[in-house]
Amino acid sequence: MTQAPKIGLVSLGCPKALVDSERIMTTLRAQGYSFSRDYAGADVVLVNTCGFLDSAKQESLEAIGEALNENGRVIVTGCLGVEEELIRKTHPSVLAISGPHQYESVVSAVHEHLPPVPNKFVDLLPEQGLKLTPRHYAYLKISEGCNNRCSFCIIPQIRGDLASRPAAGILGEAEALVRGGAKELLVISQDTSAYGVDIKYATSNYRGRPVAAKFYDLAKELGELGAWVRLHYVYPYPHVDQVIHLMAEGKVLPYLDIPFQHASPSVLKTMRRPANQVKTLDRIHKWRAECPDLAIRSNFIVGFPGETEEDFEFLLDWIEEAEIDRAGCFKYEPVTGAPANELEGIVPDDVMQDRFERLMEVAQHVSTGQLAKKVGQTIDVLVDDVDKDNNRAIARSKWDAPEIDGQVIVNNATNIKPGDLVSVLVTDSDEYDLFAEPSQAN
Ligand code: SF4
Repeated sequence: MTQAPKIGLVSLGCPKALVDSERIMTTLRAQGYSFSRDYAGADVVLVNTCGFLDSAKQESLEAIGEALNENGRVIVTGCLGVEEELIRKTHPSVLAISGPHQYESVVSAVHEHLPPVPNKFVDLLPEQGLKLTPRHYAYLKISEGCNNRCSFCIIPQIRGDLASRPAAGILGEAEALVRGGAKELLVISQDTSAYGVDIKYATSNYRGRPVAAKFYDLAKELGELGAWVRLHYVYPYPHVDQVIHLMAEGKVLPYLDIPFQHASPSVLKTMRRPANQVKTLDRIHKWRAECPDLAIRSNFIVGFPGETEEDFEFLLDWIEEAEIDRAGCFKYEPVTGAPANELEGIVPDDVMQDRFERLMEVAQHVSTGQLAKKVGQTIDVLVDDVDKDNNRAIARSKWDAPEIDGQVIVNNATNIKPGDLVSVLVTDSDEYDLFAEPSQAN
């Protein structure tokens, strides 16, 4: 049987630091690491430091020095970690440094310098964790909470302000998911394009180099993992333009899920939506010029308090002009505790229903036109399911997210299995789906 990698732990400082050490140990133990009582038996030594007083700093620096002398492979975390420069100056050979409570950064530093050895006989969990999605795709959550204050939403009250994960932790998880069989990573959060704002775009060490907690940097790194990368809940902030380059280069799927919710400036204002001041339509035209393959998915709310017929028609025209490939629609519903409940101009139910139907009609018309352009193209699809009785596969193209978008129905799907990535020739289309045959290239 393979030997579990061993970690030595030196824990300094107050009880809070001790609890941090326990959390780190618990996580690593659950991932199959074991612990050594002495320096000699450890493959790497973790020093959880204290930086409260000058004397404590000195003690921490000495402990790092001792671990380096005795073992040579040292990862530093804890309060003194915020003084990275001081540590590097005194001990240039430490492998990685992170600050207090940065559990994910410490664990990913350990993964990097002492990779876990999967052992199916003793591991409690598969390397990629327990998943509720099929093996071939996985959701990757990059942050919690939200800094926006949309008037119809209480998520910030429930989940708090934006709290981004360090880039190294996300990339480590993404790598494990790909190793575990994921062929598609779906990046999710409440506001993906705001990633990293709360942690001031802090860098963390991934594969020996610093990666900033920035939307573009993260998307670029994810694009190198060899899986489809799909971006959800992106707002059209100006820096999103950079990610369109990655889409045009084929690094990230040409797909953006942007929950616009509306297009009329007055409704967006009462909704207090982020990025509503930018000229979104111009931006979308620019994106499409650079990446003609781009599919945009969005959700819209009809019947928001104060929405006039003029506002609604503006929205319908906007959806057509922006060629929103995939549109979902909700009828406005008040949520207990949301500021929008105080707004005047309640839209009657029958008007709301009528607007819902009209919006879905326009969305269907746009979707039909967009999908018809794909007929005759040879495209790659990821197979979700196989209908053996009818010898066909239910798959998705790069323009379709699971559960919410359309499908590609592949006929004559002999020898095709769920999770396969196959090349198909699109032969037909309807309002939401494409129909295809395996291409000669398979
Ligand atoms: S609807 Fe607005 S406030 Fe609510 S999670 Fe989304 S961006 Fe944040």
